[in-house]
Amino acid sequence: MELPVIDSINFAGEKVLVRVDFNVPIENGSVTDATRIKEALPTLQKVLATNGSLILLSHLGRPQGKRDIKYSLAPVAKELASILQTPVKMASDVIGSEVKAMALALKPKEVLLLENLRFYEAEENPEKDPSFAKQLAELGTFYINDAFGAAHRAHASTADIVQYFPKKRCAGLLMEKEVTILTKIFQNPDRPFYALIGGAKVGSKMGVLYALLEKADALFIGGAMAFTFFKAQEKNVGASLVDYEHIHTAKKILDKALEKKNPIYLPIDIVTENHGTIETNKDFPIDAKGVDIGEKTIEKWQNLMQGAKTVFWNGPMGIFEVSPFEKGTFAMAKAISSLSATTVIGGGDSAYAAEKSGLSKKFTHVSTGGGAALEFIEFGSLTAIDFLKK
Ligand code: ADP
Ligand code: MG
Repeated sequence: MELPVIDSINFAGEKVLVRVDFNVPIENGSVTDATRIKEALPTLQKVLATNGSLILLSHLGRPQGKRDIKYSLAPVAKELASILQTPVKMASDVIGSEVKAMALALKPKEVLLLENLRFYEAEENPEKDPSFAKQLAELGTFYINDAFGAAHRAHASTADIVQYFPKKRCAGLLMEKEVTILTKIFQNPDRPFYALIGGAKVGSKMGVLYALLEKADALFIGGAMAFTFFKAQEKNVGASLVDYEHIHTAKKILDKALEKKNPIYLPIDIVTENHGTIETNKDFPIDAKGVDIGEKTIEKWQNLMQGAKTVFWNGPMGIFEVSPFEKGTFAMAKAISSLSATTVIGGGDSAYAAEKSGLSKKFTHVSTGGGAALEFIEFGSLTAIDFLKK
């Protein structure tokens, strides 16, 4: 089945349960970055505009299945009310008679936000209590999943709940946008298609590297990830960050690239914290720590990327949080965003780096899912999306 989408659905009289990703940073009881809330607005406004009422479901942080007021969504209700310019009722729980009464009393165009789903262990481990998903479902008459960032997990609110809405369910507008653009990259990207991968989470990115080796016309590998690949080539990288557990997989990826004649580009020079810039065909001093890609690499990669029709970027090129080691990351962000190509960022830290560089608006799409975007590029779908389609 195709993904059911909002399209021209009229929500009049429906109590619409919307699974959103309001997992936002909170300090001293206030939301410090409302990006994720704003990203859900098109879907929320669509429901309200056609006279539906909203019951919003989200997780926040990792309260480990226990009620912990530190992870309350109450500050989000306040923020959402000011963004939507409409009152937002806050439920003090997720399920139970009080919440049920609040949901029942909800009138068209009214908004109710439930407490943090992860106050219940059954959210992340639905098998522990199947009645949790059922009780959530009983609060509403229609189900929308707009939480792309959580769609790679089969949780009560993203997977088990779906069975209770055999007809009345669909993807939200944000989910639809993510799926459309990432499906295009997965199935038939405009070519040449290049992928720039970096960051520090090497282990969790090996799967997507394999997948990209099949799909992309070239891979560019920077960030800390590059050092694991240099190690696989038996190069000495001094005190740079290496993921020793994954050197073997890195070697397999390099071998496969050779076999497929698909180029993998590694940095030709590296900025170190304590020994200036070092060319990577030379040995690193034992205490040299690589913190960014060098200027020669930036120039070479910029040139190689000219003519690209699609670029997928995940992972910063260096420790961009520490100045001046943001140079490589910002320069590649600039190079990619100035191409006449479909340019997509998928990755929490890369998205943040693009934002910090002031260039995010110049990308075609900045995915709201880090792990979710990578898994989509690897497998072409996500578990919660499959549930909507069933
Ligand atoms: P993303 O969230 O975009 O997928 P990761 O989480 O994999 O990216 O990695 C981001 C982190 O990688 C950043 O905090 C950055 O400081 C770090 N990083 C990048 N290059 C290096 C490096 N050379 N040495 C150590 N850390 C690095
Ligand atoms: Mg990250």
